[in-house]
Amino acid sequence: MNPYEMFVKQVDEATPFLTVEPEYIEILKYPKEVMEVSIPLRLDDGGVKVLKGWRSHHNNALGPYKGGVRYHPNVSREEVIALSSWMTIKCATAELPYGGGKGGVSVNPRDLSPAEVERLSRGYAMAISRFMGTDIDIPAPDVYTNPQIMSWFVDTYEKIHGKSEPSCYTGKPVEAGGSLGRGDATSRGGMYVLRELLKEQGLLGKDLTVAVQGFGNVGGFAHKLIASDLGLKIVASSDSRGGAYNTKGLEYAAVRKHKTDTGSISGFAEAERVSNEELLELDVDILVPSALEGVITAANAPKIKAKIVLELANGPTTPEADQILADKGVIVIPDVLANAGGVTVSCFEWIQGRTGDYWTEEEVHQKLDKKLTTAFHQIWKIKQEFGIRTRQAAYVRAISRIVGAMRFKGIWP
Ligand code: GLU
Repeated sequence: MNPYEMFVKQVDEATPFLTVEPEYIEILKYPKEVMEVSIPLRLDDGGVKVLKGWRSHHNNALGPYKGGVRYHPNVSREEVIALSSWMTIKCATAELPYGGGKGGVSVNPRDLSPAEVERLSRGYAMAISRFMGTDIDIPAPDVYTNPQIMSWFVDTYEKIHGKSEPSCYTGKPVEAGGSLGRGDATSRGGMYVLRELLKEQGLLGKDLTVAVQGFGNVGGFAHKLIASDLGLKIVASSDSRGGAYNTKGLEYAAVRKHKTDTGSISGFAEAERVSNEELLELDVDILVPSALEGVITAANAPKIKAKIVLELANGPTTPEADQILADKGVIVIPDVLANAGGVTVSCFEWIQGRTGDYWTEEEVHQKLDKKLTTAFHQIWKIKQEFGIRTRQAAYVRAISRIVGAMRFKGIWP
């Protein structure tokens, strides 16, 4: 099942618990429009390579399209469409005034020099510049894109339009119009949601162990914040090259230093080596997939020992695996809620850029906490009421909001 088929299945699984006309469900199964671009990239050696990129606009009933831009060799049209669809659900989950969008370029940025990454980024920003803007579609970072790349995107867009427009992208560096608290926002949001779930289950303050898959912007901060703010023990951590496991716990600063020094977590001295697949099956209380989609499948779900899965990645669990985990009594906090902190603080950045009124880090944290804590409890209530999975409950709540707006707007070109 590809990510797009996963999304369609997830919508179908929520539909029986919704009172909604079938035509709206049908509309939600397709992106409204998708732009495909070819970017000629001038390489440092003088050659030229043509790269494929996309920007998908899934649904804008609740506001302009919103979502990141991914640089990864596996990026495809279907993947970008699926990711944009999940953004529609995610923005509605966090009650943001946005629809869903997503972009990506099929490239391994590790094969490019920093100057080539800059030229690619400017090429992509130029190619999609007619298809976005502060009130149309607001891109942001995703896998292997970062604040520096957002700054090149904004600079390119502003030069094309000949005016300043800081909120045309979010996830910018704080020095160049970004918001305080955006850097760790995805992981912080996940940590708040996990805290609420542990409270609900009477587990907050207990000695629980955690395995985090991924050590990028999301996994790295998750490792740090889940340990520092919730006092839980991170026993396993990984990046694309492999992982480290120690039942006594992995100290964030030491793992970070090892990664900075050697380029990977694998080989961290005070731990046993584990593969990314093995990490998912470790005997831990909480599993936090924070890398790519489709890692928990029908094949490995029966072997998962964690009792809670916090999806900081987008789409890490296939629908079959979601059901297998539920049957085993595992609570899966779905991506559309667990990782909504990133886009929520993106929204805060967008508001700050439009008003020129910049907030303190404390204000950002408080507003983020309030939004996601509210969303968690509303979803939890729906889950209890219908006796359904957390993902189904999140989709029920989100689709009700989206269709609520679509009904008033009506169906017409
Ligand atoms: N790429 C992030 C996500 O998947 C953030 C998107 C945004 O900030 O717009 O939620």
